[in-house]
Amino acid sequence: MGMNNTDIIVIGAGIHGAGVAQAAAAAGHEVLVLEQRALAFGTSSRSSKLIHGGLRYLESRQFALVRECLRERALLLRLAPELVRLQPFHIPVYRDTRRRPWQLRAGLALYALLGGLAPGTRFRTLPRRQWEALDGLDTGGLQQVFQYHDAQTDDAALTRAVMRSAQALGARLELPAVFTGAELAPGEVIVHYRCAEREHSCRARVLVNAAGPWANQVLARITPPPPTLAVDLVQGSHILLDGRLERGFYYLEAPRDRRAVFAMPWHDRILVGTTEVPYEGDPAAVAPTPEEMDYLLGTFAHYFPAWRGAGRERIRDAFAGLRVLPTAAGSAFDRPRETILHTDRARRPRLLTVYGGKLTAYRATAEKVMKRLAASLPARRPRGDTRKLPLTPAT
Ligand SMILES: Cc1cc2nc3c(=O)[nH]c(=O)nc-3n(C[C@H](O)[C@H](O)[C@H](O)COP(=O)(O)OP(=O)(O)OC[C@H]3O[C@@H](n4cnc5c(N)ncnc54)[C@H](O)[C@@H]3O)c2cc1C
Repeated sequence: MGMNNTDIIVIGAGIHGAGVAQAAAAAGHEVLVLEQRALAFGTSSRSSKLIHGGLRYLESRQFALVRECLRERALLLRLAPELVRLQPFHIPVYRDTRRRPWQLRAGLALYALLGGLAPGTRFRTLPRRQWEALDGLDTGGLQQVFQYHDAQTDDAALTRAVMRSAQALGARLELPAVFTGAELAPGEVIVHYRCAEREHSCRARVLVNAAGPWANQVLARITPPPPTLAVDLVQGSHILLDGRLERGFYYLEAPRDRRAVFAMPWHDRILVGTTEVPYEGDPAAVAPTPEEMDYLLGTFAHYFPAWRGAGRERIRDAFAGLRVLPTAAGSAFDRPRETILHTDRARRPRLLTVYGGKLTAYRATAEKVMKRLAASLPARRPRGDTRKLPLTPAT
Protein backbone atom coordinates (compact mmCIF):
# COMPACT_ATOMS: atom_id res chain seq x y z
CA MET A 1 0.00 0.00 0.00
CA GLY A 2 1.33 3.45 -0.87
CA MET A 3 1.91 6.16 1.64
CA ASN A 4 -0.77 8.82 2.11
CA ASN A 5 -0.19 12.24 0.62
CA THR A 6 -1.31 15.68 1.67
CA ASP A 7 -0.38 19.32 1.10
CA ILE A 8 0.23 20.35 4.71
CA ILE A 9 0.71 18.55 8.00
CA VAL A 10 0.30 20.63 11.15
CA ILE A 11 1.68 19.46 14.49
CA GLY A 12 -0.38 20.70 17.44
CA ALA A 13 -4.01 21.68 17.83
CA GLY A 14 -3.61 24.77 19.96
CA ILE A 15 -4.85 28.08 18.58
CA HIS A 16 -2.00 28.26 16.05
CA GLY A 17 -2.47 24.73 14.73
CA ALA A 18 -6.21 25.30 14.44
CA GLY A 19 -5.66 28.71 12.84
CA VAL A 20 -3.20 27.37 10.26
CA ALA A 21 -5.54 24.46 9.50
CA GLN A 22 -8.39 26.91 8.91
CA ALA A 23 -6.33 29.26 6.72
CA ALA A 24 -4.87 26.33 4.75
CA ALA A 25 -8.26 24.69 4.18
CA ALA A 26 -9.77 28.06 3.24
CA ALA A 27 -6.99 28.46 0.66
CA GLY A 28 -8.11 25.12 -0.80
CA HIS A 29 -5.29 22.92 0.55
CA GLU A 30 -5.46 19.44 1.94
CA VAL A 31 -4.39 19.60 5.56
CA LEU A 32 -3.89 17.05 8.32
CA VAL A 33 -3.53 18.14 11.96
CA LEU A 34 -1.82 15.88 14.52
CA GLU A 35 -2.55 16.51 18.21
CA GLN A 36 -0.98 14.37 20.93
CA ARG A 37 -3.53 14.96 23.72
CA ALA A 38 -6.63 17.12 23.21
CA LEU A 39 -7.67 20.32 21.46
CA ALA A 40 -6.11 23.27 23.33
CA PHE A 41 -4.30 20.93 25.72
CA GLY A 42 -1.29 23.28 25.91
CA THR A 43 -0.98 27.06 26.29
CA SER A 44 -4.22 27.71 24.43
CA SER A 45 -6.32 26.72 27.45
CA ARG A 46 -4.04 28.39 30.02
CA SER A 47 -3.87 32.00 28.82
CA SER A 48 -5.37 35.12 30.41
CA LYS A 49 -8.24 34.71 27.92
CA LEU A 50 -7.98 38.25 26.65
CA ILE A 51 -8.52 39.29 23.07
CA HIS A 52 -6.64 42.52 23.37
CA GLY A 53 -4.10 44.85 21.85
CA GLY A 54 -2.02 44.64 24.99
CA LEU A 55 -2.04 48.11 26.54
CA ARG A 56 1.23 47.46 28.33
CA TYR A 57 3.07 46.61 25.09
CA LEU A 58 2.88 50.35 24.36
CA GLU A 59 5.46 50.84 27.10
CA SER A 60 7.92 48.72 25.13
CA ARG A 61 6.88 50.48 21.89
CA GLN A 62 5.51 47.39 20.16
CA PHE A 63 3.10 49.54 18.16
CA ALA A 64 2.80 47.23 15.14
CA LEU A 65 1.86 44.32 17.41
CA VAL A 66 -0.74 46.38 19.26
CA ARG A 67 -2.27 47.68 16.04
CA GLU A 68 -2.48 44.21 14.52
CA CYS A 69 -4.02 42.76 17.69
CA LEU A 70 -6.61 45.55 17.87
CA ARG A 71 -7.54 44.94 14.24
CA GLU A 72 -7.97 41.23 14.96
CA ARG A 73 -9.98 42.08 18.09
CA ALA A 74 -12.42 44.14 15.99
CA LEU A 75 -12.70 41.29 13.48
CA LEU A 76 -13.28 38.60 16.15
CA LEU A 77 -15.95 40.73 17.85
CA ARG A 78 -17.83 40.52 14.54
CA LEU A 79 -17.04 36.91 13.55
CA ALA A 80 -17.40 35.33 16.98
CA PRO A 81 -19.88 37.43 19.00
CA GLU A 82 -20.75 34.48 21.26
CA LEU A 83 -17.08 33.73 21.99
CA VAL A 84 -15.45 37.16 22.15
CA ARG A 85 -17.03 39.99 24.16
CA LEU A 86 -16.01 43.52 25.08
CA GLN A 87 -15.67 44.07 28.83
CA PRO A 88 -15.04 47.16 30.97
CA PHE A 89 -11.48 47.35 32.31
CA HIS A 90 -10.49 49.58 35.23
CA ILE A 91 -7.07 50.98 36.02
CA PRO A 92 -6.94 52.47 39.50
CA VAL A 93 -4.18 55.03 40.09
CA TYR A 94 -3.01 55.54 43.68
CA ARG A 95 -0.56 58.04 45.10
CA ASP A 96 2.17 55.41 44.88
CA THR A 97 1.24 53.87 41.50
CA ARG A 98 4.26 53.93 39.20
CA ARG A 99 2.30 54.65 36.02
CA ARG A 100 1.05 58.21 36.49
CA PRO A 101 -2.34 59.53 35.28
CA TRP A 102 -0.80 61.48 32.40
CA GLN A 103 1.03 58.36 31.22
CA LEU A 104 -2.14 56.30 31.33
CA ARG A 105 -4.09 59.02 29.58
CA ALA A 106 -1.46 59.15 26.81
CA GLY A 107 -1.32 55.34 26.61
CA LEU A 108 -5.09 54.95 26.42
CA ALA A 109 -5.36 57.72 23.80
CA LEU A 110 -2.73 55.97 21.70
CA TYR A 111 -4.48 52.62 22.25
CA ALA A 112 -7.74 54.16 20.93
CA LEU A 113 -5.88 55.64 17.96
CA LEU A 114 -4.17 52.34 17.10
CA GLY A 115 -7.62 50.77 17.33
CA GLY A 116 -8.77 53.13 14.60
CA LEU A 117 -11.06 54.95 17.08
CA ALA A 118 -13.53 52.14 16.43
CA PRO A 119 -16.44 51.41 18.81
CA GLY A 120 -15.03 50.13 22.08
CA THR A 121 -11.80 52.11 21.86
CA ARG A 122 -12.95 55.16 23.89
CA PHE A 123 -11.85 55.58 27.51
CA ARG A 124 -12.84 57.82 30.42
CA THR A 125 -12.12 58.49 34.06
CA LEU A 126 -14.76 57.45 36.55
CA PRO A 127 -16.30 60.16 38.72
CA ARG A 128 -15.35 59.80 42.38
CA ARG A 129 -18.92 58.93 43.42
CA GLN A 130 -18.71 55.72 41.38
CA TRP A 131 -15.58 54.46 43.12
CA GLU A 132 -17.53 52.85 45.97
CA ALA A 133 -19.32 50.61 43.45
CA LEU A 134 -16.06 49.03 42.26
CA ASP A 135 -16.28 45.61 43.92
CA GLY A 136 -14.70 46.77 47.18
CA LEU A 137 -11.61 48.29 45.56
CA ASP A 138 -9.49 50.16 48.13
CA THR A 139 -10.21 53.89 47.83
CA GLY A 140 -7.56 55.02 50.35
CA GLY A 141 -5.00 57.09 48.44
CA LEU A 142 -6.90 56.51 45.20
CA GLN A 143 -6.40 59.43 42.80
CA GLN A 144 -8.14 58.34 39.63
CA VAL A 145 -9.79 55.35 37.97
CA PHE A 146 -9.54 54.96 34.22
CA GLN A 147 -12.08 52.86 32.39
CA TYR A 148 -11.62 51.45 28.89
CA HIS A 149 -12.69 48.29 27.05
CA ASP A 150 -10.99 45.12 25.91
CA ALA A 151 -12.36 41.71 25.03
CA GLN A 152 -12.50 38.38 26.83
CA THR A 153 -12.87 34.92 25.34
CA ASP A 154 -12.78 31.30 26.37
CA ASP A 155 -9.43 30.36 24.83
CA ALA A 156 -10.13 26.61 24.62
CA ALA A 157 -13.63 27.14 23.21
CA LEU A 158 -12.21 29.57 20.63
CA THR A 159 -9.59 26.99 19.62
CA ARG A 160 -12.29 24.34 19.21
CA ALA A 161 -14.43 26.73 17.16
CA VAL A 162 -11.54 27.54 14.81
CA MET A 163 -10.78 23.83 14.42
CA ARG A 164 -14.44 23.09 13.65
CA SER A 165 -14.36 25.81 11.00
CA ALA A 166 -11.22 24.21 9.53
CA GLN A 167 -12.86 20.77 9.51
CA ALA A 168 -15.98 22.16 7.84
CA LEU A 169 -13.65 23.28 5.02
CA GLY A 170 -12.14 19.81 4.76
CA ALA A 171 -9.21 19.81 7.22
CA ARG A 172 -8.58 16.45 8.93
CA LEU A 173 -7.72 16.10 12.60
CA GLU A 174 -6.05 13.02 14.10
CA LEU A 175 -6.36 12.91 17.89
CA PRO A 176 -4.67 11.60 19.88
CA ALA A 177 -1.82 11.38 17.38
CA VAL A 178 1.78 11.88 18.49
CA PHE A 179 4.29 13.19 15.98
CA THR A 180 7.34 10.93 16.26
CA GLY A 181 9.69 12.08 13.49
CA ALA A 182 10.13 13.42 9.98
CA GLU A 183 12.61 13.41 7.10
CA LEU A 184 13.12 16.45 4.94
CA ALA A 185 13.39 15.21 1.33
CA PRO A 186 14.10 17.44 -1.73
CA GLY A 187 10.52 18.53 -2.48
CA GLU A 188 8.57 17.07 0.41
CA VAL A 189 8.53 15.94 4.01
CA ILE A 190 7.88 12.41 5.21
CA VAL A 191 6.11 12.55 8.56
CA HIS A 192 5.72 9.76 11.09
CA TYR A 193 3.17 9.63 13.89
CA ARG A 194 1.59 7.23 16.32
CA CYS A 195 -2.19 7.00 16.43
CA ALA A 196 -4.35 4.27 18.02
CA GLU A 197 -1.14 2.36 18.91
CA ARG A 198 -0.12 2.16 15.28
CA GLU A 199 2.70 3.85 13.42
CA HIS A 200 1.65 5.91 10.42
CA SER A 201 3.60 7.78 7.76
CA CYS A 202 2.38 10.48 5.44
CA ARG A 203 4.01 12.63 2.75
CA ALA A 204 3.40 16.38 2.74
CA ARG A 205 4.66 19.35 0.76
CA VAL A 206 5.16 21.24 4.00
CA LEU A 207 5.21 20.58 7.73
CA VAL A 208 4.00 23.29 10.11
CA ASN A 209 5.31 22.97 13.65
CA ALA A 210 2.68 24.59 15.89
CA ALA A 211 3.69 22.64 18.99
CA GLY A 212 3.98 25.75 21.20
CA PRO A 213 6.32 25.04 24.13
CA TRP A 214 7.13 21.65 22.58
CA ALA A 215 8.35 23.27 19.32
CA ASN A 216 12.05 22.52 19.79
CA GLN A 217 11.30 18.95 20.93
CA VAL A 218 9.52 18.48 17.61
CA LEU A 219 12.47 19.93 15.64
CA ALA A 220 14.85 17.59 17.46
CA ARG A 221 13.02 14.65 15.83
CA ILE A 222 13.54 15.87 12.27
CA THR A 223 16.39 14.76 9.97
CA PRO A 224 18.55 16.26 8.64
CA PRO A 225 18.52 18.50 11.74
CA PRO A 226 16.84 21.79 10.79
CA PRO A 227 17.97 25.16 12.18
CA THR A 228 16.33 25.95 15.51
CA LEU A 229 15.84 29.14 17.45
CA ALA A 230 17.05 29.23 21.05
CA VAL A 231 14.03 29.97 23.23
CA ASP A 232 13.23 30.23 26.91
CA LEU A 233 10.04 28.91 28.41
CA VAL A 234 8.59 31.35 30.92
CA GLN A 235 5.77 30.14 33.10
CA GLY A 236 2.74 32.32 33.76
CA SER A 237 0.27 31.29 36.45
CA HIS A 238 -3.30 32.19 37.29
CA ILE A 239 -5.37 31.55 40.42
CA LEU A 240 -9.15 31.25 40.71
CA LEU A 241 -10.77 32.73 43.81
CA ASP A 242 -14.18 32.11 45.25
CA GLY A 243 -15.87 35.43 44.70
CA ARG A 244 -17.24 37.73 42.06
CA LEU A 245 -16.29 40.92 40.31
CA GLU A 246 -19.51 42.58 39.18
CA ARG A 247 -18.02 45.65 37.51
CA GLY A 248 -15.54 44.04 35.20
CA PHE A 249 -11.78 43.78 35.04
CA TYR A 250 -9.05 45.43 37.07
CA TYR A 251 -5.57 46.19 35.82
CA LEU A 252 -3.43 46.29 38.96
CA GLU A 253 0.20 47.05 39.70
CA ALA A 254 1.80 44.41 41.91
CA PRO A 255 3.16 46.22 44.98
CA ARG A 256 6.19 43.92 45.13
CA ASP A 257 7.68 44.47 41.66
CA ARG A 258 5.30 46.90 39.87
CA ARG A 259 4.33 44.34 37.21
CA ALA A 260 0.83 44.53 35.74
CA VAL A 261 -1.55 41.91 37.15
CA PHE A 262 -5.12 41.34 35.96
CA ALA A 263 -8.13 40.44 38.10
CA MET A 264 -11.18 39.41 36.10
CA PRO A 265 -14.53 37.68 36.36
CA TRP A 266 -14.45 34.08 35.12
CA HIS A 267 -17.44 31.70 35.44
CA ASP A 268 -18.64 33.10 38.81
CA ARG A 269 -15.10 33.19 40.12
CA ILE A 270 -12.26 35.69 40.15
CA LEU A 271 -9.29 34.94 37.92
CA VAL A 272 -6.00 36.61 38.87
CA GLY A 273 -2.81 36.45 36.78
CA THR A 274 -0.06 36.33 35.85
CA THR A 275 3.51 35.68 36.89
CA GLU A 276 6.82 35.22 35.08
CA VAL A 277 9.08 32.40 36.21
CA PRO A 278 11.69 30.64 34.04
CA TYR A 279 10.77 27.00 33.39
CA GLU A 280 12.94 24.12 32.26
CA GLY A 281 10.96 20.94 32.78
CA ASP A 282 8.53 18.95 30.66
CA PRO A 283 5.97 21.39 29.17
CA ALA A 284 3.14 18.99 30.08
CA ALA A 285 4.07 19.16 33.77
CA VAL A 286 4.00 22.93 34.26
CA ALA A 287 2.09 23.92 37.41
CA PRO A 288 1.78 27.01 39.63
CA THR A 289 4.20 27.17 42.56
CA PRO A 290 3.14 28.16 46.10
CA GLU A 291 5.19 31.39 45.74
CA GLU A 292 3.31 32.37 42.59
CA MET A 293 -0.02 31.73 44.29
CA ASP A 294 1.00 33.90 47.26
CA TYR A 295 2.18 36.67 44.94
CA LEU A 296 -1.12 36.72 43.01
CA LEU A 297 -3.31 36.46 46.10
CA GLY A 298 -1.20 39.11 47.85
CA THR A 299 -1.49 41.51 44.91
CA PHE A 300 -5.25 41.04 44.72
CA ALA A 301 -5.72 41.44 48.49
CA HIS A 302 -3.58 44.59 48.46
CA TYR A 303 -6.24 46.29 46.31
CA PHE A 304 -9.35 44.54 47.65
CA PRO A 305 -9.12 44.91 51.45
CA ALA A 306 -11.87 42.35 52.15
CA TRP A 307 -9.32 39.75 51.00
CA ARG A 308 -6.51 40.86 53.33
CA GLY A 309 -5.36 38.01 55.48
CA ALA A 310 -6.89 35.42 53.13
CA GLY A 311 -4.78 32.28 52.90
CA ARG A 312 -4.17 29.77 50.15
CA GLU A 313 -7.31 27.89 51.23
CA ARG A 314 -9.32 30.61 49.45
CA ILE A 315 -7.75 29.54 46.13
CA ARG A 316 -10.20 27.24 44.37
CA ASP A 317 -8.05 26.35 41.40
CA ALA A 318 -4.85 27.41 39.65
CA PHE A 319 -3.19 26.77 36.31
CA ALA A 320 0.01 27.68 34.50
CA GLY A 321 0.95 28.18 30.86
CA LEU A 322 4.27 28.66 29.11
CA ARG A 323 5.38 31.65 27.07
CA VAL A 324 7.92 30.88 24.35
CA LEU A 325 10.38 33.77 24.17
CA PRO A 326 13.58 34.01 22.14
CA THR A 327 16.60 33.72 24.41
CA ALA A 328 17.89 37.26 24.91
CA ALA A 329 19.04 39.64 27.55
CA GLY A 330 16.44 41.46 29.64
CA SER A 331 13.51 40.41 31.75
CA ALA A 332 10.69 38.33 30.24
CA PHE A 333 8.37 41.24 30.92
CA ASP A 334 10.06 43.58 28.43
CA ARG A 335 10.97 41.07 25.74
CA PRO A 336 9.25 41.54 22.38
CA ARG A 337 6.15 39.41 21.95
CA GLU A 338 6.10 39.36 18.16
CA THR A 339 5.41 35.94 16.72
CA ILE A 340 8.41 34.38 14.99
CA LEU A 341 7.93 32.25 11.88
CA HIS A 342 11.10 30.19 11.45
CA THR A 343 11.72 28.12 8.30
CA ASP A 344 14.26 25.48 7.25
CA ARG A 345 15.28 27.64 4.30
CA ALA A 346 14.41 31.01 2.81
CA ARG A 347 13.17 29.78 -0.59
CA ARG A 348 10.48 27.11 -0.85
CA PRO A 349 10.52 26.10 2.82
CA ARG A 350 9.43 22.57 3.72
CA LEU A 351 9.23 23.25 7.41
CA LEU A 352 7.88 26.24 9.32
CA THR A 353 7.85 26.66 13.09
CA VAL A 354 5.59 29.13 14.89
CA TYR A 355 7.38 30.46 17.99
CA GLY A 356 5.51 32.53 20.56
CA GLY A 357 2.54 34.61 19.49
CA LYS A 358 -0.75 35.88 20.81
CA LEU A 359 -4.06 34.12 20.97
CA THR A 360 -5.59 37.41 19.74
CA ALA A 361 -3.59 37.48 16.50
CA TYR A 362 -3.88 33.79 15.60
CA ARG A 363 -5.76 34.47 12.35
CA ALA A 364 -3.31 37.09 11.12
CA THR A 365 -0.45 34.76 12.10
CA ALA A 366 -2.02 31.86 10.20
CA GLU A 367 -2.38 34.00 7.07
CA LYS A 368 1.30 34.99 7.35
CA VAL A 369 2.21 31.32 7.64
CA MET A 370 0.29 30.58 4.42
CA LYS A 371 2.05 33.44 2.65
CA ARG A 372 5.47 32.14 3.67
CA LEU A 373 4.55 28.67 2.40
CA ALA A 374 2.84 29.73 -0.84
CA ALA A 375 5.83 28.98 -3.08
CA SER A 376 6.07 25.43 -1.68
CA LEU A 377 2.42 24.57 -2.32
CA PRO A 378 0.47 23.77 -5.47
CA ALA A 379 -2.11 26.30 -6.65
CA ARG A 380 -5.58 25.40 -5.34
CA ARG A 381 -9.00 26.94 -5.64
CA PRO A 382 -9.88 28.82 -2.38
CA ARG A 383 -12.87 27.60 -0.40
CA GLY A 384 -13.28 30.50 1.97
CA ASP A 385 -11.80 33.63 3.49
CA THR A 386 -10.79 33.61 7.16
CA ARG A 387 -11.82 37.27 7.44
CA LYS A 388 -15.39 36.22 6.76
CA LEU A 389 -15.83 32.79 8.35
CA PRO A 390 -18.06 32.98 11.43
CA LEU A 391 -16.94 31.14 14.57
CA THR A 392 -19.53 29.62 16.86
CA PRO A 393 -19.36 27.70 20.15
CA ALA A 394 -20.28 24.01 20.07
CA THR A 395 -23.99 23.40 20.59
C1 LIG B 1 0.32 32.81 30.95
C2 LIG B 1 -0.05 33.20 29.54
C3 LIG B 1 -1.09 34.11 29.34
C4 LIG B 1 -1.43 34.48 28.04
N1 LIG B 1 -2.46 35.36 27.88
C5 LIG B 1 -2.82 35.72 26.62
C6 LIG B 1 -3.94 36.59 26.43
O1 LIG B 1 -4.63 36.96 27.38
N2 LIG B 1 -4.23 36.97 25.17
C7 LIG B 1 -3.50 36.55 24.09
O2 LIG B 1 -3.80 36.98 22.98
N3 LIG B 1 -2.45 35.69 24.24
C8 LIG B 1 -2.12 35.27 25.47
N4 LIG B 1 -1.07 34.39 25.65
C9 LIG B 1 -0.41 33.84 24.46
C10 LIG B 1 -1.21 32.66 23.87
O3 LIG B 1 -1.89 31.96 24.88
C11 LIG B 1 -0.28 31.71 23.13
O4 LIG B 1 0.49 32.42 22.21
C12 LIG B 1 -1.01 30.63 22.36
O5 LIG B 1 -2.00 29.98 23.15
C13 LIG B 1 -0.02 29.61 21.81
O6 LIG B 1 -0.72 28.66 21.07
P1 LIG B 1 0.04 27.51 20.28
O7 LIG B 1 -0.98 26.87 19.41
O8 LIG B 1 1.26 28.07 19.64
O9 LIG B 1 0.59 26.50 21.41
P2 LIG B 1 -0.21 25.47 22.36
O10 LIG B 1 -1.57 25.95 22.69
O11 LIG B 1 0.69 25.14 23.48
O12 LIG B 1 -0.42 24.20 21.43
C14 LIG B 1 0.60 23.29 21.10
C15 LIG B 1 -0.03 21.92 20.92
O13 LIG B 1 0.92 21.03 20.34
C16 LIG B 1 0.68 19.74 20.84
N5 LIG B 1 1.88 18.92 20.64
C17 LIG B 1 3.11 19.12 21.18
N6 LIG B 1 3.96 18.16 20.79
C18 LIG B 1 3.27 17.31 19.99
C19 LIG B 1 3.59 16.11 19.28
N7 LIG B 1 4.82 15.55 19.32
N8 LIG B 1 2.61 15.49 18.55
C20 LIG B 1 1.37 16.02 18.48
N9 LIG B 1 1.02 17.15 19.14
C21 LIG B 1 1.94 17.79 19.89
C22 LIG B 1 0.35 20.00 22.31
O14 LIG B 1 -0.36 18.94 22.90
C23 LIG B 1 -0.47 21.29 22.22
O15 LIG B 1 -1.88 21.04 22.19
C24 LIG B 1 -0.72 33.97 26.94
C25 LIG B 1 0.31 33.04 27.15
C26 LIG B 1 0.63 32.65 28.44
C27 LIG B 1 1.70 31.64 28.65
